[in-house]
This record gives sequence, structure tokens and C-alpha cells, in this order.
Amino acid sequence: MSVPREGGCACGKVRYRLVSDPMIVHCCHCLNCQRQTGSAFVINLLIEADRVELLGDEPVSVDVPRDDGSAQKISRCPTCQVAVYSDYGRPEVLFVRAGTLDNPASVSPDVHIFTKSKLEWVTLPVSVPAVEVYYDRKEIWPASSLERIDTVLSS
Ligand SMILES: [Zn+2]
Ligand SMILES: [Zn+2]
Repeated sequence: MSVPREGGCACGKVRYRLVSDPMIVHCCHCLNCQRQTGSAFVINLLIEADRVELLGDEPVSVDVPRDDGSAQKISRCPTCQVAVYSDYGRPEVLFVRAGTLDNPASVSPDVHIFTKSKLEWVTLPVSVPAVEVYYDRKEIWPASSLERIDTVLSS
């Protein structure tokens, strides 16, 4: 990666910089993500929280209920309420929403997940792995990313 990716909310008060590439990019077609985004799927960059530099206001974390009864912490701009990232109970790993990048085209999904609830009119490329629900990390992630997630989860 030559230039670090940056992004932010709609009003510009929340700004962030990703100091490295993400570990993996998910395109999630689950019903929770559809509801949260009001759209067909979400695109998340999974990255260590300490590799996300906040350049502006601190996002506020909102507990959003999921179908399984758990809560997903979605971090939003306190002013315009755009969601910039979330976490699933491990705050060391952030799921940065690709649509908030200044250049969303700088990433593309490494894997499509929860295709069992994918909307019928969404056609997936055959070249990208797609799974009905979830997957075994070892089968999808590059070795360097596996090392990174082991470091995060063991600390
Ligand atoms: Zn904002
Ligand atoms: Zn999802």
C-alpha cells in the first residue's frame, strides 16, 4: 500500500486513516447487515483497532441488536450519525465500512459471506470465494493476515 487509506462520515467531523491494509475484506449478505445499512449487503474492512487513526471527532458507539440476541457495537459520527465502523464484541478488531472510504474503489471483497440470504438480483463474481454462512479463516485468509489476527486475539 503506497498511500494510507482515509475516510470519514458525511459531515466530515469523523475522519480516520488506516495505517495498513486490512487483514481481509468481507462482503456480508446477512439480514443483520441488510437491515443496518438499509441496503443489499455491507462491505467491511477487518483491521486492528490500533491501525485505525482517528483524525477528528471520536465516534459514538451504539449497541444495535442482532437476530441472535447479541449486540453489535456500531460507531457513528456524533453529529451526522453515519456509521463508520463496528465491532462484534472484540474491540481490538474493527470492521470499517468501505463505503466511508474516500476512495471506496480502493478495496474489493476477498470473500462473500452469508450468501444464503443474498438478494437474488445480486450476482457474484465466480473468481471470489463465496460461502453460505461463514468459513474457516485458514482456508481464506493470507498467511500474513492469519499472523496478524493471532497476535490480536492472543493479547
Ligand atoms: Zn459526521
Ligand atoms: Zn452481516
